[in-house]
Amino acid sequence: MQWHGILRLDVFCGLRNLPEEIPRNAAALPTLSEVLELQALAPARLLIDGTSRTLYTPRMSSETDLVAALRRYWGYDSFRPLQERIVRSLLEGHDICVVMPTGGGKSLCYQLPAAMLFGKTAIVISPLIALMQDQVAQLAQMGIAAALLNSSLAGDQQSVVMRKACEGQYRLLYLSPERLARADTVSWLQRVPISFFAIDEAHCISEWGHEFRPEYRQLSCLRLHFPDSPIAAFTASATRRVRHDIIDQLRLRNPHKYIASFRRPNLRYVVKECDGRMQSSLLVRALRKYSGSNVIVYAPTIARVEGTVDFLEEQGIPAIAYHGKMDARTRRRNQERWMSDEVRVLVGTIAFGLGINKAAVRAVIHLSLPKSIEQYYQEAGRAGRDGLPADCLLLWQKRDAGLLAHFVEQITDPAEKQRAWQRYRAIRRFAESKSCRHRQICSHFGENPKWASCGACDVCVSEPEWLSKPADVERPKRRRSASLAAGPVRPRRPESEEKGVAADVDPELREYLREWRRATAKQQGVPAYVVMHDSSLEELCRIRPGSLSELLRVSGFGERKAELYGQQILDALGQFRNGARATVVPEKKPRPAEETIRLLAEGRTLDEIAEIRGRQRATVVSMVADLVEQGDLQFQPGLVDYEKQVSIEAACARLGLERLKPLKEALPPEITFEEIRLVVARLRRQQKHQ
Ligand SMILES: [Zn+2]
Repeated sequence: MQWHGILRLDVFCGLRNLPEEIPRNAAALPTLSEVLELQALAPARLLIDGTSRTLYTPRMSSETDLVAALRRYWGYDSFRPLQERIVRSLLEGHDICVVMPTGGGKSLCYQLPAAMLFGKTAIVISPLIALMQDQVAQLAQMGIAAALLNSSLAGDQQSVVMRKACEGQYRLLYLSPERLARADTVSWLQRVPISFFAIDEAHCISEWGHEFRPEYRQLSCLRLHFPDSPIAAFTASATRRVRHDIIDQLRLRNPHKYIASFRRPNLRYVVKECDGRMQSSLLVRALRKYSGSNVIVYAPTIARVEGTVDFLEEQGIPAIAYHGKMDARTRRRNQERWMSDEVRVLVGTIAFGLGINKAAVRAVIHLSLPKSIEQYYQEAGRAGRDGLPADCLLLWQKRDAGLLAHFVEQITDPAEKQRAWQRYRAIRRFAESKSCRHRQICSHFGENPKWASCGACDVCVSEPEWLSKPADVERPKRRRSASLAAGPVRPRRPESEEKGVAADVDPELREYLREWRRATAKQQGVPAYVVMHDSSLEELCRIRPGSLSELLRVSGFGERKAELYGQQILDALGQFRNGARATVVPEKKPRPAEETIRLLAEGRTLDEIAEIRGRQRATVVSMVADLVEQGDLQFQPGLVDYEKQVSIEAACARLGLERLKPLKEALPPEITFEEIRLVVARLRRQQKHQ
């Protein structure tokens, strides 16, 4: 077949510089069948060296081709707003700057053109290794060759990736900004057939943004080193100022600019100022409302994260913690348990969530005021990424504002301090003003909304009824009957207000397929959503396909995925029809307070208990003090050195038991807050009984 070589050449060169760019490394080229399969080809007659030849040229711009690729890899039938235009711009070789909120389908915008530009490699710059790993795993499941180069790989693995990249074997290659900045990386990349650069989280390049990362500054050199490669900047949150900064810093040339609306109509924003007791009560009420659904709770400190998890477990609501001080393994495991629906409620610091790709989150609840609107929008935006209704509750306390202001005061750089004050004022305005929350967010990001009322926030409509009931604080119910103890979360029929939880899905089937997904993900060593998104799982439950061709009609099942899991899923559905059910074994986990009391009775020290329970020492102390104060635990003299107890008691006699801070200031520095807290708890208990 004479045209074979020409066809390969034509695909490789994109027909632009046909005579000059004769590929030197034929092994890097796709085989003919791959080309024919992957690219819709149209014959064209061209004159080459005076002879007329038939060439087969890719028809990249045709709408059917884009949708065919979308269908083939992603298993979707249509694009979300803006996606198709962005993909087209990239295929045409333009620089682009895209602002697209979380949940808008940002990564597809560069992954799809990368997948279609055969023989070339898109270089994706992203700040987070975990995120890159997950994306590479997902792409592999879709049948798109992708790799990640970072220091976690052994030296010889790294050289394999680098060699294959030079051969053009990957459609996408993920790198950290630090890696890209290395001189040896630049010279190596100059040998890679690059299709374009995609910069994820591009706002990190701007110090006007809320997440400035100095290492992103080095990306300014990209244009210099790779003058011919298009650069695509992506961000989920950028004000006008940050957008201009991105374009300047990356030296984008007449970029096509795309800004998706920041309005997420499926989200309901509810903001409520409350005190500590009311906050706990509202949190419990909210979680009971969303029981059976995935929820993220954001707490401001590690102590609050742990305290909240313990508090919820006392209330019979299983929850897991996530924060930066956990060892990496536990953190990863906790995240996994939440991602795979083993535990529905995750309480985390802001460390949680970057790169989290769980679509079916029904609520994001904040227990303090975030630092900025950008941060709030990003965190709250993790709700409802499946497009179904979801709630964003901001339960804040006045003292949060004081704390934020305190931290701003600590900033030494005057320019940075000024920016921090701006952010502080903006988030306070957001929380306190009585104008539409959606509108405030859109305006903040430079949008000019045409509508007056959103119909989905506490200002425009009203707060949910269950939230406005007077707060009755539930005292932790200890020593309840065993049957009430935290078992597996049973999928409950949604109440009328709980939109978003598909009502037409058999909860038993959903649970059964989730179990299958958990096991499969574990076996493959990937997160559960990489096997299948929640939305696909729900659709499977509704459609219950009986054949592979029916399965391919389920959104999210591309050809590769159907090939990988199709038969297993059909088998699982068959087993369910024959009576098989999920076999979730309830985790026999003692209540936090019970366990703490038992460990103390065994003679464990506070440090040992912290170790056993996987908590910070301060969290354990705070729980012990609460138990003593409530009379559920006898104060144990061994907890605080006798002489210190005497000093603390004397100070309490003079200054009272109301506040700890004056006590701490009056006492010698070697007496800690924890010791004071414990002794005060005992005295308060005694006082109540006098
Ligand atoms: Zn509104």
